[in-house]
Amino acid sequence: MGASVTANGGIQVELGETRYLLDPRARVKADYTFVSHAHIDHMHTPAKNERVIASSVTGELAKARGYDLGSTTEEVDGVELLDSGHILGSRAIRIQDEVYYTGDASGRTRAFLGKCRTRRARVLVMETTYGSPEYVFPATAKLVKEVNSLIASAYDRGVPVVLMGYPLGKAQLLSYFFSSWDPIIYHERVAAMNRIHVEHGVPLKPGMTFDPAKDRDRLPRGPWVMVSPMSSGRSRLMAHLKKEYGAILVAFSGWALGRGYKHTMGADYSFPLSDHCDYEELVRLVQAVSPEMVYTVHGFAAEFARDLRELGFSARPLGAYQSSLSDYADG
Ligand SMILES: [Zn+2]
Repeated sequence: MGASVTANGGIQVELGETRYLLDPRARVKADYTFVSHAHIDHMHTPAKNERVIASSVTGELAKARGYDLGSTTEEVDGVELLDSGHILGSRAIRIQDEVYYTGDASGRTRAFLGKCRTRRARVLVMETTYGSPEYVFPATAKLVKEVNSLIASAYDRGVPVVLMGYPLGKAQLLSYFFSSWDPIIYHERVAAMNRIHVEHGVPLKPGMTFDPAKDRDRLPRGPWVMVSPMSSGRSRLMAHLKKEYGAILVAFSGWALGRGYKHTMGADYSFPLSDHCDYEELVRLVQAVSPEMVYTVHGFAAEFARDLRELGFSARPLGAYQSSLSDYADG
């Protein structure tokens, strides 16, 4: 008997008598819910008696971000959690040898983060954020080198640099790679997430904490590096840092490979540092899982499913319609 996979306020997997809800955005009746990682678009506030599968680190990060997942478990019969390499604590889930769900996944090692581990499964449910061939990311070491020379030339001119990325995940990579610059300043939302990483053994250097409500006019004159949440260059804070300190703004996202990203963000520079698989890594992930059926979610879901079909896989985006494994032979 195969699993049925449907979209139902999340990804719903029914296998035998058991119903699993994967990354639901709201409460939906299920035997188990799975929270892959602590990004806001993957979390919900569970009911009191809900059985939540998540890594303990995800539970901790979620709580720090205002989502109490209650008492989570990593041990359920027939369920295996695998490091998905996306952020600290992120997991993919394999339910028996039937379903493998990536959550958000990275295809490469970055600093303290590994890459997504894979296992064979009959059905693969995968994120396809960058599932279009123009999204192939450069080597991380090359990118880090380029950013260091950008910062070096700013320091030569006495100019401060603001490095912007998602406050959980990207900002810790930026803190890891670029905190040898002095002084290093962390926006308070980044500092809060850094603290939890340090408690879990990630070697992030201490730095000055920046509270935008109090410190916007108290930053040092001369060059510094700040790690900050992503914010438009046209936001009040960033406009202030540019005007008062002459800071240059650098944005980090996989979308930086797309045209117009830098301009849209109002940033001076942008670099494609991503916590997701690029196009080639997505294809390799499918080959490693070697599934009979692939459901794609997020981003270029329809386009990537089409490309997979051209490679000989059965694949389709997991839309709002019902589908089950009994009909995939036609797809
Ligand atoms: Zn994520």
